[in-house]
Amino acid sequence: MQTEKLPRARVEKDEYSRSDAMKVMPLPPAEPLRSYALQLKDALSKEDKKAILAASKLLLNELADAHKVKRPTVKILSVRPQEVTDEWVYQTFGDYDTGTSVIRLWMRTAVQKKTSSYGTFLSTLVHEFCHHMDVVSLEFPNTFHTRGFFERVAELYHHVQDTPVKEIVWQSHSDGTYAVNWASTMRNSRPIAQSNSRV
Ligand SMILES: [Zn+2]
Repeated sequence: MQTEKLPRARVEKDEYSRSDAMKVMPLPPAEPLRSYALQLKDALSKEDKKAILAASKLLLNELADAHKVKRPTVKILSVRPQEVTDEWVYQTFGDYDTGTSVIRLWMRTAVQKKTSSYGTFLSTLVHEFCHHMDVVSLEFPNTFHTRGFFERVAELYHHVQDTPVKEIVWQSHSDGTYAVNWASTMRNSRPIAQSNSRV
């Protein structure tokens, strides 16, 4: 995970800074989100495209309703599309169209030809939903990949999956971007009892 470069234009720079500073957003109730996530897990293990779509819709609709925003449209593709234009904000397993609020998620990449793992698929779904939130609710029309964006995604992802949130440790680069320092971030996830035991 790497943040985008700070944009040059003042308005965009302001949006970027606000997004970067926003580390949290309100979390919806755990249920029925976690039940829907388990439905998704089951559908992925069976490689059942219809069931994957159904569970993804349930999750995204619930997330949208909980945040009182319009529901995004979701499409499940078998493989990553060949042509991805600049207008789509995308990452490896999905993308979001800021104009039409369409989230596309693909079950497998052309290279791997393997169905995405549950963790990868769910984190992509949440990532794309956070782009949707940026655009329709948080007044971040460019929905930049900032530290705040990734932290909001991580918080919601772990909430839905019912796993502990790790505090992300960022490493700054000379061009002003940040990348996750995974080694330090993973160390952060160690049980607190371990450090207490030194006393
Ligand atoms: Zn993205």
